[in-house]
Amino acid sequence: MRAAHRLLAGLLAAGALALTSTGLTGCAQSVDPIERLGRKAAEKVEERRVSLATARRWGLDEPLAPAPKPPPRHLAKAAGPGLPPVVDRVPTKDKVVFLTFDDGAERDPRFVRMVRELRLPVSMFLTDSVAGPGYAHFGELRAVGATVQNHTLDHPYLPGLPYDGQRWEICGQQTKLKDRFGQRPRLFRPPYGEYNADTLRAAADCGISAVVLWRASMQIDDLRYTEGEQLRPGDIILAHFRGPDELRGASLTEMTTRILRRIQAQGFTVGRLEDYL
Ligand SMILES: [Zn+2]
Repeated sequence: MRAAHRLLAGLLAAGALALTSTGLTGCAQSVDPIERLGRKAAEKVEERRVSLATARRWGLDEPLAPAPKPPPRHLAKAAGPGLPPVVDRVPTKDKVVFLTFDDGAERDPRFVRMVRELRLPVSMFLTDSVAGPGYAHFGELRAVGATVQNHTLDHPYLPGLPYDGQRWEICGQQTKLKDRFGQRPRLFRPPYGEYNADTLRAAADCGISAVVLWRASMQIDDLRYTEGEQLRPGDIILAHFRGPDELRGASLTEMTTRILRRIQAQGFTVGRLEDYL
């Protein structure tokens, strides 16, 4: 997206130069080149929209609304000098929320199809000891647009460990995920959402740019809020890769459909967390 913007800016600059050098500046143009490029970009977006039939196949009344344009720069405030921000809600006024799935226990091939067909932005916080045996599955999710982020090697209660132990858990998973997926995560979620000053220092030392908590969590049928009774702009939603044994018979995709319906009913859509943090 950013590369596309740069390309567009470059094309426009080149176009402006060409017009100046041929003395055409100021002449009335039948189609403004900026407008033409804008229209083309809008058509492209329209082409990529999910069809009504696809949305209905996944149990939604309509496709998710397109995510709003993310802010030009990241707005979350650092937790202290040299420390990453700790974020449970992204600073925005747009009616957009973010979906995060943790651990990596359940590997449901239907979920890969769901993410692909609904073009669902999903951030996956993976724990090596849980997700590791199934990294191929998470690679498939990544190939259809989901992103891989850090949730430690072994899922410990981090405040119970000294700095070195915390650093080992976080940096170790950075390396594992880089080796497996070719990219070092930028985001980190501490197990159970529990952290202390050493966690933030270790996260910074491991190259983490934001520590991600949550404002709402996905239940089998509904959302549970840490505060209030409805979604607010920028809320980060926590879910887990769980299967029917833990979801009273419901599948991961059924749970996700129910939550997407709740999100839509409140007038929200889903954005990509990495565009904001
Ligand atoms: Zn977890």
